[in-house]
Amino acid sequence: MDIKGNNISIIGAVRSGIGAAKLAKKFGAIPFVSDSSDRQRLQRSILQIESERIDYECGIHSEKVFDCDFIVTSPGIPTESEILSKAKERKIKIISEVEFASWFCKGKIISITGTNGKTTTTALMAHTLNECGLKTYSAGNIGKAFSEIVLDVKEEEFVALETSSFQLDFIDQFKPFFSIILNITPDHLDRYQNRFENYIASKIKISENQDENDFFLFNADDYNTYSTMKNKRVQKLSFSLKKEVPAGAYSKNGKMFFSWFGSTEEVCSVTDLFIKGEHNVANALAVLSIAKTLNLPNKKIRESFKSFKGVEHRIEFVRELNGIEFYNDSKATNVDSVTVALKSFNKPIYLILGGKDKGNNYDQIRNLVKQHVKKIYAIGISAQKVKNYFAQIVETEIKESLESCVITAREEASPGSVLLLSPACASFDMFEDYEHRGRVFKEAVNRLS
Ligand code: ADP
Repeated sequence: MDIKGNNISIIGAVRSGIGAAKLAKKFGAIPFVSDSSDRQRLQRSILQIESERIDYECGIHSEKVFDCDFIVTSPGIPTESEILSKAKERKIKIISEVEFASWFCKGKIISITGTNGKTTTTALMAHTLNECGLKTYSAGNIGKAFSEIVLDVKEEEFVALETSSFQLDFIDQFKPFFSIILNITPDHLDRYQNRFENYIASKIKISENQDENDFFLFNADDYNTYSTMKNKRVQKLSFSLKKEVPAGAYSKNGKMFFSWFGSTEEVCSVTDLFIKGEHNVANALAVLSIAKTLNLPNKKIRESFKSFKGVEHRIEFVRELNGIEFYNDSKATNVDSVTVALKSFNKPIYLILGGKDKGNNYDQIRNLVKQHVKKIYAIGISAQKVKNYFAQIVETEIKESLESCVITAREEASPGSVLLLSPACASFDMFEDYEHRGRVFKEAVNRLS
C-alpha cells in the first residue's frame, strides 16, 4: 500500500497510536497524533513522539485532525466517540490500527477475537507454534501493538493477533490467514448502542475479506460465533467441548482430537494442558485446530500445552506451600470470570472476593460457592456487600488487606486446598489496576516461608 505523502491523523497516543505514527512516517506519510488526555498522563508517549519528530497535540482533538487523507484510530477509542462521529459526518475514512499495520505485513496473520479468552489463546497460539518450530509473534493487547512488530515479520512467519471488536469495527482490507471467534456473549454493549446483533456483526467482520485460501475457525458450541457468517468462500473449521466436528478439534472422554473430513486422530489428553479449567480446554482446542491444520506434530503440541504456564493474573499458579496451592486470578473483575475460576478446581477453595463493585449480582455463583468454597475473605469497599450476601452460605470474614488474607488463609487452610484471588470486582479502590493487585498478592504469597 502506497501511503507516501498522505496526511494521516492518528487518534490515541499510546502504544498502538505511536506504533502507527512511526510506521506512517517510515513509509513516507505525514502523521499527526491527537490525544484528548492531558500532557501529564501522556508524558512517556510525548517523549517518544518528540524524539521521532512527529507532529502531535494533547488535551484536545482540534480541527487539524480532519485535515487528512484518512484517520487511524487506536483500540481504546470508542466507536461512538465525538471525534470519530465528527469524522464520519465529514466522510473521512477511518481505519483501525490493526487494519493499518496489516497493509505492511508480509507474514501470515492469525487473528483471534471473542468476548473472553483472547489474551490466553493468543499467548498459547504463539507458544505452541513457536515450540513446533514456526516463528510466531504475538501482538495486540498483549505485549506489543501490531504496528510495532509488523516490519519484523518475514513471509514464512506468523503473527498471533489479539483483535478486539473495536478494532474490527474499522477494518477495510484486513485479511487474516486464520480468523478465530472464540465465543460471543453480551459485553461492551454500551459501545454498540446496547444491541447484541451489532456486537456480533462487528466480530463476524473478522472473516469478511478472507478467501478460499484462508480459514475461519468458530466455536461449534456457541451459535453466535457462526450464525451470522456470510462469507461462503473461506474454509471453515470449528472446535467443540461437546460434540465431534467435521473439521477442527473437539474433546471427548478426557482426550483432545483433531478431525479432518472423515479422518480423526487423538492428539493429547486434557490433562496435558497445564492451565486450569474447561474454558482453557476450549482455548486449547482452538489452538490445536490451527496447529494441526498447519500439520504440526502431535508430540510437540502436547509438550507445548504442558509447558505453557498461562498468562499472568488469569488463574495463574503462584506456588504451593504445605500442600496449599495459591492462584492469582486478579483479571477476574466480574462474576462471569469467577464462575469459570470456581469451576476450574476440584479442591476446597478459600476465596478472596471484593474490591470496586460494578453492580455485581452474586446469584450466579451462589451454588458454586456453596459446593466449592470453604471460606471467603472479603476485601475493599464492597467487603460488607460480599459479607452480607455470602455469610449465610459460607464463613465470610472481612480483611483489610490482601496480605492479611494470605497470612490468615495459610493458617486456616488445610493441605489439599486452594487459596484463590478471584475478586469479581475492579481494583481501583485499593490498587492502580488489576495487574498491580495481582502483583501485591503474589508478593504476599511469595513472602510466606
Ligand atoms: P480476554 O483477553 O478476552 O479478556 P483473557 O484470556 O484475558 O481474555 O481471559 C480473561 C478471563 O476470561 C479469564 O480470567 C477467564 O475468566 C475468562 N475466559 C478465558 N477464556 C475463556 C473462554 N474460552 N470462555 C469463557 N471465559 C473465558
